[in-house]
Amino acid sequence: TQTKTMALNMDSWAGKKGLLAAGQANCTLLQEQSWSYNYLVEGLFSVGGTLFINALKMLMVPLVLVSLVCGVSSLADPSKLGRLSLKSIGLYLLTTAIALTLALTLASIFQPGIGMPVGDATFNASEKPPLTEVIINIIPTNPFEAMFNANMLQIIVFAILVGLAITLSGEQGKRISKWFNDVNKVVMELVNIVMRFAPYGVFFLIAETFATFPFSDLLGGLGGYFLLVIVGLILHAILTYSTLIALFARLNPINFFKGMWPAMITAFGTSSSNATLPVTMRCAEMNLGVHKNTFSFTLPLGATINMDGTAIMQGIATLFIAQAYDVDLSMAQLLTVVLTATLASIGTAGVPSVGLILLAGVLTQVNLPVEAIGMILGIDRLLDMTRTAVNISGDAAVTAIVAKSENEIEMDTFNDPFNHSNFD
Ligand code: ASP
Repeated sequence: TQTKTMALNMDSWAGKKGLLAAGQANCTLLQEQSWSYNYLVEGLFSVGGTLFINALKMLMVPLVLVSLVCGVSSLADPSKLGRLSLKSIGLYLLTTAIALTLALTLASIFQPGIGMPVGDATFNASEKPPLTEVIINIIPTNPFEAMFNANMLQIIVFAILVGLAITLSGEQGKRISKWFNDVNKVVMELVNIVMRFAPYGVFFLIAETFATFPFSDLLGGLGGYFLLVIVGLILHAILTYSTLIALFARLNPINFFKGMWPAMITAFGTSSSNATLPVTMRCAEMNLGVHKNTFSFTLPLGATINMDGTAIMQGIATLFIAQAYDVDLSMAQLLTVVLTATLASIGTAGVPSVGLILLAGVLTQVNLPVEAIGMILGIDRLLDMTRTAVNISGDAAVTAIVAKSENEIEMDTFNDPFNHSNFD
């Protein structure tokens, strides 16, 4: 009841931090009284959290489709689309390559896998389609099926084509464009409604994870791996993004992180870049001041093709497993890790735990046993949450840089994110 009352009184993101610690302490105690543990963790937290994730997923397809059609159809100069794609894809690949280099360097210096007992770990990796198939599948044969399956790349391609066709359709195009703008207003109100529940939803999700996380597993050799991934993620978020934002866009990184904080917390709670997309888009617009015709393209694209946090986990996990199995990876193999991990995330939806499937592909490329993923499986949930927060920050950092270079950012909003935030 104490946690419930606190949750009901909670009306700010900042207040939630203290509540989490209290919630976790409560849950550990409650494990001994299983009926109340079941009621709170498996009942309230689990149901409340899942309701929130479902609501976010519900927004994803209409939001991406409608805002991208509006964004593209409002472009005065359609060639801008080509520039946006080149800049954002280039920066996405660059940040992922930096993330992997950082991860491999950290894991080579600290060697978390040395002396780690291998045991009889098992992991069944599901198949990831080859890159050629991902490229072929970019064009949807049936746009409704693409929406039905929430296939982000296909929805992006379809929305861009519809937006372009609207700009070429004269009077009729203008009417349809107005209609899409009206629908966009309604979808944004839908997002507003769901966002009212965001603090509660995120609280439930995080409280559930902390109540069920196997913290005792961290006491053995896995603690080193866990810590190193967390350190790598924090370093990449703070150093790489701040440097790129300050260097390429001359923007203040502190304002960037302040503005994106609600999306980072939501990503942490949901473990899914895709589900977080409505919040990421909203923060980019309301708190960073990025214009719709930039973020409506770069953010959905980033949620699918850019996963820097996941790349860090893959780099460290590969070396951790190699060290545990006493295998020395050559320079060429390390390069293979960088290439495979960078390309693998293209076309893979940002959903919980997908990083482990990508990792299976990387391990296969360098002849390491895929079952070894079983060693790190148990403690992956908390890492997944943290790397998802980094993944969406990377998407937003690239969005801010591209927007600045295109003069598509309101500096008044960016310089004073809290004044405009809808999350206070
Ligand atoms: N959960 C991550 C995301 O949605 C992907 C992963 O690393 O598993 O971005």
